[in-house]
Parts: sequence; C-alpha cells; structure tokens
Amino acid sequence: MSVPVARAALLQPLEETSWPERTTVVIMGGGPVGLSAAIMLAQRGVEVLVLERRNFDYRFPRAHLLNVRTMEAFHDMGIADDIYALGPQNERWRKVAWYTTVSGSGAFDGMKIGEVPAWGGGADAVRYAEASPRAFANLPQLRLDPLLYAHAVATCPGRIRGMQEVVGVEQSADSVTVTVQDRAAGVTRCVDAQYLIAADGGRASAELLGVEMEGPRDIRESISYHISADLSMWSEPDALLTRFFHPAYGPRPRATLQALGPDTYDRTSREWLVGIAPELIAGDPDDEEIVKTAIRASLGMPADSAITIHSASRWFLNGTVARQFRVGRAFLVGDAAHKHPPTGGLGLNGGVQDVQNLCWKLAAVLSGHASDALLDSYELERRPIAAYYTAHSLENANRHAPIGAALGFDARDEAAGWEGLETFVSESPEGVAMRKRVGEEVDENALDYSQLGVEAGFRYWAGAFAPDGTTPAEDAGAVAYRPTTRPGSHLPHVWLTNSSEGDDTHVTSTRDLVQATGLTLFTSDAAQTAWRDAVLAVGSPMPIQILAVPRTEEAWAAVREIGDDGAVLVRPDATVGWRTDRLPHDPAGALRDAVAVILRGGDAPAVDPAETFLVRVRAAATTLAA
Ligand SMILES: Cc1cc2nc3c(=O)[nH]c(=O)nc-3n(C[C@H](O)[C@H](O)[C@H](O)COP(=O)(O)OP(=O)(O)OC[C@H]3O[C@@H](n4cnc5c(N)ncnc54)[C@H](O)[C@@H]3O)c2cc1C
Repeated sequence: MSVPVARAALLQPLEETSWPERTTVVIMGGGPVGLSAAIMLAQRGVEVLVLERRNFDYRFPRAHLLNVRTMEAFHDMGIADDIYALGPQNERWRKVAWYTTVSGSGAFDGMKIGEVPAWGGGADAVRYAEASPRAFANLPQLRLDPLLYAHAVATCPGRIRGMQEVVGVEQSADSVTVTVQDRAAGVTRCVDAQYLIAADGGRASAELLGVEMEGPRDIRESISYHISADLSMWSEPDALLTRFFHPAYGPRPRATLQALGPDTYDRTSREWLVGIAPELIAGDPDDEEIVKTAIRASLGMPADSAITIHSASRWFLNGTVARQFRVGRAFLVGDAAHKHPPTGGLGLNGGVQDVQNLCWKLAAVLSGHASDALLDSYELERRPIAAYYTAHSLENANRHAPIGAALGFDARDEAAGWEGLETFVSESPEGVAMRKRVGEEVDENALDYSQLGVEAGFRYWAGAFAPDGTTPAEDAGAVAYRPTTRPGSHLPHVWLTNSSEGDDTHVTSTRDLVQATGLTLFTSDAAQTAWRDAVLAVGSPMPIQILAVPRTEEAWAAVREIGDDGAVLVRPDATVGWRTDRLPHDPAGALRDAVAVILRGGDAPAVDPAETFLVRVRAAATTLAA
C-alpha cells in the first residue's frame, strides 16, 4: 500500500551513516507515540533523534480507533487527511454488536444479542460533529505506523534510526547520556541529549530510570490472530467489532472479531483480527491447524472455510500507571507510562495526547520562553488522566460479562445457558423481561463506545494553567461532553463563519486558530484594542497572538462563558490556560500573572487526583481477574 507523504524536511538532514555525539531530544522507541513526538518537536524546530530497537517492520494490527482529540493532534501534524484517505471510505463501521456465532445450523447460531452505535455513528453523529472539527477515524496500526514512519522520516531526515536499542541512561544536571546498542553493526555508542523521551512501550525505560509501575499486571491473557477469511455468509451488515457468547463458555465473550479492511470494514472485509481466550485452543497455539480449528469453532464458521493466518500476538491485560512521569531530564510517555486493556481504545490515543502535552512545553523551555519548572506540569497533568483512562478501560472490559450473565450463561452449567437462549427468544413474560435486561446491559456499553465525555471532555486538575476560582461543573460522566472554557479544559470547538481577516465565507474551527508555538488570546472585536495594549505591556516571554472574534459569532458567544470584553488564553495544545469574564481593572497585570503561572507550570495539588482512579483500577482489575 503506498503512503501519500509529501512533506518538506523540517530539520537539517543527517547522514544515515553519521552519528551525532549530541542532540537536543533523544526519543527511545519508534512506535506511534515516539514517532508522533518526533514530528511534533521537529515542527517546532527541535532537533531529535529517534532510536528504535527493531527495524520498522509492521506485522500486527493492534490499535485502530483514533478519537477526535487524537485526530486534532494528527491534523496539526499534517497527517489527518492521509489517515482518513487510508481508512474506511463509508460509514459502515461505526457499530459494535454481540452475537452467538457468525453462522451455523444450530437453532441459536448466527443470532444477534444486541448492538450499539459506536465512535460517532448513528444517533451519536451530531454530538461528535459538534464536539470537534475532526471526525473519529479507524486505521489499524499495521497501516497507521508506516504512515507515521514515512512522515517522521520526511520531516526528520536521517534522524529516525532502526535497529538501535537503548540499553543505558545516565543523567547529569544539564544532560542525559544514552548508551545505544547498534543491533545491525554490532557496536555500542553513546549519545548526549538535553532531554530523553522514553516511548519504548514499557519494555525497558521503567527499569533504566528506576520508575515503579503502580497497579495490577498480567490480569488475564489473550491471543489475537490477524487472518484473512471470507465471512460474507454472516447476516450482520456493518459491525466493525463483534463479541461472541456461547453457553459452554459462561458469561464472558469467548471470541472477538474486528474487521480490518483494507477496502471495506463490514462483513465484506478481507482481513480480520480474531481474539480468543487461550484456553479455547486445544493444543499448541503456534500450530496453525489447531488455531484455525479453534477460530472456526469460536466464530461458528463452516468446518471447511479457508483461513490464512498472517500473524499472532499473545498479550496480557494490564492496569499499570508509572509512579513518576518525569525523572530528571527523562519523560515517560505512551505505553511506557501507562498500560491498560484495549477496551475503550485509549492506549495509543492517550499516548499521542501525552506527547501533545509534553512537546510544546519542551519547545518552550528549549527556546527560553519558559523555565524548566514548566516540564513538571507534564506529570501533574497527564498522570491523573492516565490513571483515569486505565480505570475506565478496565471497567469497559467488565461490561461484557453482565450481558452473558443476563442471558443466564454460567461457566459451571452449560445447560442453563441453552435454557437462557430459549427464554431469550420466547414470547413468554420471562422472555420479554430477559430481553429487557439484556438490552440494558448492552446499552451500558455506551460508556465505552459513545464515551465522548472521556475522550473529549477530560480536564486537568492541576498544572500549567491559572485557576479562575470557579468550581468545575458536576461531572458529566463518560458519555456526555460539555464544552467549557474553565482553565485546564480543552478549548471548545465552534466553526467561525466570519474570520478576523474579514472574509465572510471563511469557516474555521476555533481549535485550528490556536498557535503551535505561542499563546493565543481569544477576545472579541469590542475589546481587542484594550487587550492588544495589555499584551504589548506584558512583554510575555512566550509570544501571545490576539484573536478578536466578531461579536456576531453566536456559536462562540454560546460556549465562551465570558463577556464581550473578557478573554480566554489558550496554550499550544488547545488547553485553556486562563480566562477572565471582563476586562480587568489592570489587564496587563492580570495577563502577566496568568502567563507567569502557565510558564512555571502551576502548583501541585494538595491531594493527588490520580489516587481516586487508582482505587477504581484495583477494583476493576479484581473483577476482571475473577
Ligand atoms: C489487540 C490490541 C488492540 C488495541 N487497540 C487500541 C485502540 O483501538 N486504540 C488505542 O488507542 N490503543 C489500542 N491498543 C493499544 C496500543 O496498541 C498501544 O497503546 C500503542 O501501541 C502504544 O504506543 P507506544 O508508541 O507507546 O508503544 P509501542 O507501540 O509499544 O512502541 C514502542 C516501541 O519502542 C521500541 N523499543 C522498546 N524498547 C526499546 C529500547 N530499549 N530502545 C529502543 N526502542 C525500544 C519497540 O520496539 C516499539 O517499536 C491496542 C493494543 C492491542 C494489543
């Protein structure tokens, strides 16, 4: 598959054969999070060197759901359009379903148990479109990672190095030295940098940096197979993701099926990801014939259906969060900082959002706009979110067994499960009641598949923003997203029809007006002169661009939560750093104070917000392990 990359180099090219003794930021790990960090830093003119222990060969699909906040980051990186072009070209994938089997001759084979809209589909389409200028996307890592790699190579030529394993990290007051084993040339060398980003998926960095991971690990094992198979006999028209229940297996789904395209992502998909519990494989999980038999049995495929197995992955469900996200000059990001089950698709998404948070801060410190203290806010802001995402992902994983339980499935009593299915399809009062209960348990999964509140509505509890003394609105929950300009929140998105350039036909999202390397002050045309004077008087170390939104922009007026002469100051990652309802008595003084708080990274909270979520992590992991 060709990758449509035509990007200009943003950094000075480096000869592939030459090794710098010193660079600005070393990125350990060339997975999606490390490569995203490289592009984000290069865009800000920061010299990087990515060291990846493998050879950038991509064999396993892994993550595929790219939520709207991640797509906003990918848009800023210039790759969103390529992702949409490589992903599904129609809407026949925004659904999750629960079935007994795909097909078969039994009375209950091929039976649908329930379905919910997912990832901005169906009834969710309008509120997803209102929340973000970017649509939710679906692209398996098998295709996303080469795209990110091609963009990273294009923007950072000669600086993305494969077969280079970081085996040692030493820090001094003003530098970090990594020891690199060149696995191709068989030599070991050292590289000095000002900072290290550990994006190694958790393979080595915690040990090298002496960081403890909190939370349960290896909770449950799963095996996933990337296969090609013809499932066109299935009655389900358009579910991207399906879970299959069987009375013999009890209340948990015994198999998961995900369409992998590459052309269509419904039952006509040619490739699939099949996840099955290891105990369903009667024999060696590396024996292809044994695995094919297990896949056919788990999905209810005809015994003679052809299956080609491309690759397999054994993985564990974990619930771990690093105790520290910063160790001196090193920062843990992505799976190196947090690991949780894929239920909710928050792993890669959370990782890209980690580096979106970190990279503007690194660039601001390296360019002298902010002090090193700003970098402490990376941990203050992102660690509670990682704990929140870990808890939510584990809870999502626990939302399927209640469907099976409502059907009467019991691992110790297969007959009870068959009776449950009889009841489920009957017109008796028991059947009506069971269908209602099952339906309610199915609908509970909106907390996973319609989780706009989790994906778009998270806010930082403490960090590089100036609190305005307001108390947060009551938690809107996992599904609802309530836009707000309260400091620490994501800038609300609205389409501005009248741009400040005076072009009436111009339509731009407020999010796309946020500056990548400076602060953006949103105010109205009524107050722009006063705020311009204030900005000039402040002489902020970090540039502040004023965005005077015409008062006629009603959509903005509806969400800005400030008066016409107030202002909202926004950081480069589209997080609100400060706001004022009115023009203060001393606008320059108020702005100066706010900028100072942002650039020194704010204050640590008295109580660690991550703790509440870590309690939820342990509770959910206990349920999952049972
Ligand atoms: C079945 C499955 C489905 C998933 N679905 C989703 C989903 O839909 N959405 C989602 O957001 N997430 C999903 N995830 C999770 C997602 O795959 C991970 O969160 C994501 O890959 C993490 O990216 P990363 O760059 O942090 O780490 P990785 O992808 O693990 O990359 C780390 C890189 O570092 C390299 N490395 C390791 N050690 C060293 C070293 N010492 N020196 C140099 N390089 C090193 C590795 O070789 C690797 O290339 C899923 C995961 C699985 C298993």
